[in-house]
Amino acid sequence: MATSFDVIVVGAGPAGSAAALAVARTGRSVALVERGPFPGSKNMYGGVIYGRILDGIIPNWWEQAPIQRWVTRRGTMIMTPTQAVTVDFRDEGWGVAPYNGATAYRPEFDAWLADHAVEAGATLLCSTTATGLLKDGSRIFGVRTDRPDGELLAPVVIAADGVNSFLAKEAGMYHHSEPKHYTLGVKETIHLGKQTIDERFGLRGREGADFEIMGCTGGIPGGGFVYTNLETVAVGVVLQLPGLASQDKRPEEVIGALKAHSAIAPLIEGGEVVEYSAHVIPEGGMHMMPDLITDGMMITGDAAAMCLAAGIWLEGVNFAIGSGYAAGQAAVEALRLGDVSAAGLEGYRRRIESSFVLADHRKFAEVPDLIMGERMQTKYPQAICNLASDIFTVTNPVPKKGFQSMARAELKRSGLKLSEVGKDMWAGFRSFR
Ligand SMILES: Cc1cc2nc3c(=O)[nH]c(=O)nc-3n(C[C@H](O)[C@H](O)[C@H](O)COP(=O)(O)OP(=O)(O)OC[C@H]3O[C@@H](n4cnc5c(N)ncnc54)[C@H](O)[C@@H]3O)c2cc1C
Repeated sequence: MATSFDVIVVGAGPAGSAAALAVARTGRSVALVERGPFPGSKNMYGGVIYGRILDGIIPNWWEQAPIQRWVTRRGTMIMTPTQAVTVDFRDEGWGVAPYNGATAYRPEFDAWLADHAVEAGATLLCSTTATGLLKDGSRIFGVRTDRPDGELLAPVVIAADGVNSFLAKEAGMYHHSEPKHYTLGVKETIHLGKQTIDERFGLRGREGADFEIMGCTGGIPGGGFVYTNLETVAVGVVLQLPGLASQDKRPEEVIGALKAHSAIAPLIEGGEVVEYSAHVIPEGGMHMMPDLITDGMMITGDAAAMCLAAGIWLEGVNFAIGSGYAAGQAAVEALRLGDVSAAGLEGYRRRIESSFVLADHRKFAEVPDLIMGERMQTKYPQAICNLASDIFTVTNPVPKKGFQSMARAELKRSGLKLSEVGKDMWAGFRSFR
């Protein structure tokens, strides 16, 4: 027999739990449907949560969230197989409330956020897969599930079912996505113990480090990362799907090469791999974003391709929470006004247009293409590392070269044309301005 709610949220990741929390807080009935045995059980990511979005949703969240370390050190590393240049930034202020970023394990973090929704009154249905949409013409009024009691009915459905959202696809909301918009993220979690991590990464107490890496994927467009948890270190790569498919390389070989690099190997030496995980990431941003609203349904988080992947930033959890909470609020508003058509649910778009969620995606819309380009992936890392080598190599008794002649020599050596560099600098300036 079908069960009815005011709102059904599919997926208890950060987007879904935030949506269910927003609805439940108003006293409306909401089902939070999760295919895993508990929220977060199916979920993986690199490891850093940027919590500013939580300030307005769960005040003083840092006093109760299941956090591993507070990120006080952030770096961007540019690599060739034998060299590395690192921009390494520390801020003591990030180690005190309200903090900037934190490492956390997803099974713990997702379960914690879902608990908030449940405490507010949401009905959490785990081990339950939404298998399809219930439709009356173009209007969606519920979902079919694999539960024995079958269908769940509601005037509003919020799809928070992650990348490859079958619900968004079934509703015909994806129009522009291409294989190049997706990467495969592969991660090893390596146990080292707190003291070793503190010593090797120069950390104290609950301080943590977060490094994004370019030039570490053997020519496959993508990047890498190293994040510290309390007792473990996460090392991973993200690889663009067509690039991965066209090379005769397995992801574990790429991650193996990263782990063997002289800039990484000493950090993880002697560690034991305790987990190996992989997940697809929607990295195309605005260029792949689906329709966000249809009659009776909204799409949030990774299901709506809202992960921001822009080289120095890989942020998805905060975008998921921001969009999910906005969708929950919009659902309640539409129910109150008695109009759950696409027009009635427009409050969702209004909210994310006026927040960082769409503002950042609009601003950095061209960045994913720029970052994944061939020159950015291979030629610039090589040129930057060579230049650093020229600068730091002591040549005397031969006199030192000036920076200008070093740069000119490097352009020649790397085969980069000045016109290409100028074009890319202009594109970079426009993309990041
Ligand atoms: C390798 C990697 C590194 C990353 N690093 C970071 C990082 O450091 N920081 C960051 O902020 N982001 C990072 N991200 C991105 C981040 O993980 C996502 O953007 C974020 O998880 C999106 O949240 P979501 O709730 O939209 O989707 P998800 O977290 O994917 O949650 C979707 C939920 O829906 C459930 N579900 C799916 N289909 C159904 C169904 N039919 N019925 C019921 N339930 C269903 C799933 O089990 C899951 O619980 C990374 C991602 C990867 C893969």
